[in-house]
Amino acid sequence: MAKKQFKAQSKRLLEMMIHSIYSQKEIFLRELISNASDAIDKSYYAALGSEEVEFDREKFVIRLTPDKEARTLAVSDMGVGMDREELENNLGTIAESGSLRFKKEMEEGKDVDIIGQFGVGFYSAFMVAKKVTVLTKRAGGTAWLWTSEGADGYTIKEAEKEDAGTVVTLYLKDDAEGENYSEYLDEFRLRSLVRKYSDFIRYPIKMLTEERRLKEGSEDEYETVTEDKTLNSMVPVWRKNKNELTDEDYENFYKDRHYGYEKPLRHIHTRVDGDFSYIALQYVPAKAPFDYYSKSFEKGLSLYSNGVMIMEKCPELLPDYFGFMQGLVDSADISLNISREILQQDRTLKLIAKNLEKKIRAELLAMLKDDRENYEKFFKEFGRQIKYGLYDGWGANKETLQDLVIFYSGKEQKMITLKEYVDALKEDDKYIYYATGESTARVGKLPQAESVLATGKDVLFFTDEVDEFAVQMMREYGGREFKNVSSVDPEEDATDQKPYEDVIKFCKETLGDKVADVAVSDRLREHPVCLRSRGSMSIEMEKTLAATPQGDMIKAQKVLQINASHAVTQKLTALMKEDPEKAKKLVGVLYAQALLIEGLAPEDPVAYANDVCALVD
Ligand code: ADP
Repeated sequence: MAKKQFKAQSKRLLEMMIHSIYSQKEIFLRELISNASDAIDKSYYAALGSEEVEFDREKFVIRLTPDKEARTLAVSDMGVGMDREELENNLGTIAESGSLRFKKEMEEGKDVDIIGQFGVGFYSAFMVAKKVTVLTKRAGGTAWLWTSEGADGYTIKEAEKEDAGTVVTLYLKDDAEGENYSEYLDEFRLRSLVRKYSDFIRYPIKMLTEERRLKEGSEDEYETVTEDKTLNSMVPVWRKNKNELTDEDYENFYKDRHYGYEKPLRHIHTRVDGDFSYIALQYVPAKAPFDYYSKSFEKGLSLYSNGVMIMEKCPELLPDYFGFMQGLVDSADISLNISREILQQDRTLKLIAKNLEKKIRAELLAMLKDDRENYEKFFKEFGRQIKYGLYDGWGANKETLQDLVIFYSGKEQKMITLKEYVDALKEDDKYIYYATGESTARVGKLPQAESVLATGKDVLFFTDEVDEFAVQMMREYGGREFKNVSSVDPEEDATDQKPYEDVIKFCKETLGDKVADVAVSDRLREHPVCLRSRGSMSIEMEKTLAATPQGDMIKAQKVLQINASHAVTQKLTALMKEDPEKAKKLVGVLYAQALLIEGLAPEDPVAYANDVCALVD
């Protein structure tokens, strides 16, 4: 019998399948099972519509039959089957969509790992099989056997088959180094593949399994029991009604899926029907994965098309600032064969993502309101991400995110929202004050923060590097501007500088361009000096930027502020006359102290140490 040639492009694709990377091969099973499920769908709907066709539940089963001796794995269904013409058309040419795109990407040398995300279809069988046969029959028709050993073509001949339906038999490749095809004969491996990719196929996926068990009534005699097991659970948790499910069900599913080890803080289960429909089950994790704030972390929800997983992590479903969410989306409006690139453009996917975002925000707000304790836990893990979201995009996400951030209040001594800060303000209060530093303990000791708190006003303590950048992007909240307590504010501090002209002049001359200015203030409490900044760049921002490439070029404009009523100021005034050299040393020491309070290092620590000793003499 003459071998028929595959169409040219199909041949090329087949060759690529045959040579694909081993780790990607396991998806062949998902593809064959999904084809079987489609075939059953077709006969199922035909049966529903006609009285002639007998409606037999037993037929709606997908069966896996591994045969260790023959090294074959069969996937069979009693679905519609194919006639000769259909066999030619369906298996002689590459189906459009997924396969073709896949081929294109492979040829362009793109990341081949993409294979797991494509519907590569029937041909994926050649990733694991050296020979594939398809025995198929339409109800009332002739049976046909299609055989192919890969790229060099296929044959079709008449055959015998009792029932309508299809049996796809894979003659597995020989094992080779790093390529263990025998595992596809292993019951355990097949079960876990079904659970991984096809657990929620609507029809039972069955396999005869053998188990060694103690004989009944015996203590040492074993027997092999054969059982026809259903490998998939068919009804996924997310397709069940919320009222059928307990918190524990949701938690178990979370753990089953390895979303995380700790109990999630909240689950969000939504079903949307309308122009587009989907079900989403999402979780707010309790702990950030160890690599969360690194490049290696991949955000995304799993994407299912009608119960079949098409992508393990679909990043398009989540904005970066909600990238911590875990879970999945199942939609009948997303095609199984959709490719990565088409998916990115997909309108339905975009609409779903927009909806999810709204829902996540609403749930986080609800948690903030009703379950503050857990919200604070959540914020400790993922708050930084939300603040990055405020900073990213030049404040474009302000509306979405501003009510989700919480900061430590110096006055209340607990975490508060911006709204809570603003609600406590008097009508003519213009500012939301903040102070920055490494920890709340350190910020609390900053002279600048103390002096504002002493006036009865609240100060938010910023301890994350991103905090100040984020509020600078926001500019204001509720009509109040953000203000760093360390920035110079002539309006707030109207200390008369005149009586101190000499001291100021002397300090300026001594410090030169180390500082932008020197000023005297009667607002500092116990501290002799502190540094303030002028303009939008704060000292804390300078520190953060210093750690980035070329960031050390950007400096805050520092103003050394001297406490008018501190004894050391009088001492300096006296020394300036009696011993100007010693006075210079004192100015240097005071400046170094101001740096230290800010968490900055004195430029010359040795000189500083020597000067301190010299002053003691
Ligand atoms: P796709 O499923 O994306 O269309 P495939 O390459 O997987 O592409 O399959 C090509 C076609 O072959 C299917 O569309 C279907 O018509 C037919 N087919 C594959 N497997 C079966 C099966 N088990 N029963 C009936 N038809 C099948």
